[in-house]
Amino acid sequence: MKIIMLGAPGAGKGTQAKMIAAKYNIPHISTGDIFRANIKNGTELGKKAKTYMDAGQLVPDSLTVDLLMDRISKEDCAGGYVLDGFPRTIPQAECLEEALKSRNEAVDYAINVEVPDSNIVKRMGGRRACVTCGATYHIVHIPPKTEGICDKCGSELILRDDDKPETVEKRLKVYHDQTKPLIDFYSEKGVLKEVDGTQDMKAVFEDIVKILGA
Ligand code: ADP
Ligand code: AMP
Repeated sequence: MKIIMLGAPGAGKGTQAKMIAAKYNIPHISTGDIFRANIKNGTELGKKAKTYMDAGQLVPDSLTVDLLMDRISKEDCAGGYVLDGFPRTIPQAECLEEALKSRNEAVDYAINVEVPDSNIVKRMGGRRACVTCGATYHIVHIPPKTEGICDKCGSELILRDDDKPETVEKRLKVYHDQTKPLIDFYSEKGVLKEVDGTQDMKAVFEDIVKILGA
């Protein structure tokens, strides 16, 4: 099963993708997480990606596409995967289509997690991410058991630099200009599924399971 998560930054793509990955036993692949791991490890890719991410812009396709193609060609992806944060532009989606076509494969579901912009800024301000394992929480909706500490690994939770309100506004603009056209792209391919992302995370997941099958 090859699944793509679509939606604005903060819509809950990562939250749902992790739940999908656990239930259907497929890898969760987040380009944002891959970039953040590279930043943490001080790699060349991380240094390049950081300048774009901090500015609320997309990392150029030239740095993103090969990275993703390489990841989905790994053995653990043979039975499918859930992509979170890729594709984010029409050229990225076209590259993915081409790569899959050459193997007689295609995206099975593009799940659009729909949340209005007005909710997004509030959600992002409350998001906290673990510095070590990348788990995400929300200070009001999905709080950790102990404030500021990751339930899973005990490390510190932080507000991501790009989740500060002024950067969130920029990321939303980038989303509308460059990523939202993917909704029509996948609708034309007949694989688009919409879910109401304003519900609580369990209700969103139940809707996704209805789409994917139990
Ligand atoms: P994305 O991957 O789309 O950027 P996340 O999954 O990281 O979004 O979610 C953004 C923030 O909203 C996080 O703090 C997360 O804990 C919280 N969140 C996710 N889903 C819901 C939901 N259904 N209701 C309320 N808050 C949510
Ligand atoms: P995310 O964790 O998905 O919210 O991504 C955080 C940031 O990483 C984005 O704002 C972009 O700067 C960058 N990024 C992640 N995925 C992509 C992608 N597919 N194309 C371009 N930039 C990306």
